[in-house]
Amino acid sequence: MDFDEYRKRGKFMVDYIAEYLETIRERQVYPNVQPGYLRNLTPDSAPVEPECWDQIMEDVENVIMPGITHWQSPHMHAYFPALNSFPSLLGDMLADAINCLGFTWASSPACTELEIVVMNWLGKMIGLPDAFLHLHNESKGGGVIQTTSSEATFVCLLAARTQAIRRIQELDPQLEDAVINSRLVAYCSDQAHSSVEKAGLIGLVKMRFVESDDSLSLRGDQLQDAIAADKKQKLIPFFVCATLGTTGACAFDNLEELGPICQAEGMWFHIDAAYAGTAFICPEFRHWLSGVTYADSIAFNPSKWMMVHFDCTAMWVKNSEHLHRTFNVDPLYLQHENSGLAIDYMHWQIPLSKRFRALKLWFVIRSYGIKGLQKHIRNGVHLAKKFELMIVNDSRFEIPAARHLGLVVFRLRGENHLTERLLKRLNSRGRIHCVPASLKGKYVIRFTVTSQYTTILDITKDWSEIKETATEIIDEHNSNNNDLSYNKTKVSLAEIRKWNNNFGASLLLANSPMSPKVVNGSFAALFDDGDDWSRKLLRSELKDSSCKYTTIRRRIRGILMSGKQFSLDSRMDLVQGMAPTSSKKSKDVILESSEDTLDMSNNKNEENGLQEKCDKCSVIKSNLLCHAQLESNLSPLIETDNNTDLIKTV
Ligand SMILES: *Cc1c(COP(=O)(O)O)cnc(C)c1O
Repeated sequence: MDFDEYRKRGKFMVDYIAEYLETIRERQVYPNVQPGYLRNLTPDSAPVEPECWDQIMEDVENVIMPGITHWQSPHMHAYFPALNSFPSLLGDMLADAINCLGFTWASSPACTELEIVVMNWLGKMIGLPDAFLHLHNESKGGGVIQTTSSEATFVCLLAARTQAIRRIQELDPQLEDAVINSRLVAYCSDQAHSSVEKAGLIGLVKMRFVESDDSLSLRGDQLQDAIAADKKQKLIPFFVCATLGTTGACAFDNLEELGPICQAEGMWFHIDAAYAGTAFICPEFRHWLSGVTYADSIAFNPSKWMMVHFDCTAMWVKNSEHLHRTFNVDPLYLQHENSGLAIDYMHWQIPLSKRFRALKLWFVIRSYGIKGLQKHIRNGVHLAKKFELMIVNDSRFEIPAARHLGLVVFRLRGENHLTERLLKRLNSRGRIHCVPASLKGKYVIRFTVTSQYTTILDITKDWSEIKETATEIIDEHNSNNNDLSYNKTKVSLAEIRKWNNNFGASLLLANSPMSPKVVNGSFAALFDDGDDWSRKLLRSELKDSSCKYTTIRRRIRGILMSGKQFSLDSRMDLVQGMAPTSSKKSKDVILESSEDTLDMSNNKNEENGLQEKCDKCSVIKSNLLCHAQLESNLSPLIETDNNTDLIKTV
């Protein structure tokens, strides 16, 4: 492609994008494709000869678009918003063209300096204290753009760990890092995002999930109790992650109660405000920030609600020295004559290189102005309130947790399975897309207002869809009250751990109760626990020729070969789709991590085997505890042949 063709194709691409976004409402928000659909539409190997541009563009509609979940659609209500905007798209286009790597100031001075400036702007826009800003060369505080909130939490946890280890070593220089590390303990609420759990896992520190109150908020007393219990066991509390705007129901932890405790205990206090942070641009929502002065770090995602497209996570610290101590490696080739005079962002993050993300943020803030951004937020909240009213006026539904900002959680009155069915049916039709959450044992549908183009008409249309589908579900339920497939028993996680301590919650989407959460977090991890059981199976060392093991072998090979494709979390939709039918064939094992329960369908035929020991893994063969059984519970995920059916039997 030469310059002339680039000009032509580039203009066409801009038009294509405008058309796509302008008519996105007409596209089905949730795709109707089966796993592997794209492989069947594309050649096995890369083209040897160059292909013509028109043909590639044609394949965008034929190959790519059919498998897209349209996150910019007004009918997208799953997760949280992940918005873009024209200023953001254009700003990033320029950043991509410049494509500088801002690891040090010298590697591209404007990249570093603009990041300092926009992070100061943004900090002031959401009402952060000056201590978080980089106002002059001696400022210890300042902002940095990280890739994701997960990364921001992890980076802060690492800085906190460095700080804690140094503090302990000042008292006892003989103690080794690893010894101290093994005694560190961090805290978050039981509503915290799964990325907090993940940060603890990677940082090799214990994580306590402290129970939230009735409003799903983490309170001081509970934290204090947890800390006291840990200190009795000679553990070292070092890090608290509070959430403003939890994933499940957009609840807010109480910073004013947590902050002083962190201060008294010398713990690092981090605030994860990934979604809600954008709302603090409006002063009327800042009361939740009260107590932020106690924090050591705070992060939010302009890439969620602020119309700066992914990736862009704004993170501030009060004292960047802790980041420096954690990340400072200073080889000669990265030193420049202004080293130490300017920020070198490579010491504030895990990667060396950094994209010029400040540019899209700069374009967005300047194009909308603070007023424009406030208007966008207020409009989203207004529409969520309208939707809330529609639900309140229909007595079949209830709203089990207060609506905050743009997120409404709702459910059908009665047993969880009704709401579960409702959601499955809605998602299978693809006209609106939502995901579930589990709030203190209640299965809820999360409805987030996302797009800046959403109108009250869109919301009304979504509500009609929900209402009509609910009528179907309730009618079916009434006419088929004897359906035993929903007969579930609950087993607490604590009870399960008595049998096998390896069982734990999933790393991802911990707030999505319908993703099965078993063993060490992911399906792949299931076979990676050091007992080389899976390898034995693969090498056919288990000479049991019963068809049961043959199937397992086949499935494990499938898992290992397909890698991540079959991780449970990435196949959440399938799991949801399969639940009602699979429970007839096998038990579905679903750990609802947020309230520590495991859901299983009863299966009368297999109840007799309850207390047997599994000969392969010496675990008591309860309904769920041996590898083999877990595996067979999950089988519908693996046998791709069946997937078609599974999706359709919603
Ligand atoms: C979305 C979200 C996250 C994860 O954000 P990433 O940027 O994708 O890592 C973490 N915490 C909360 C509260 C969130 O809403």
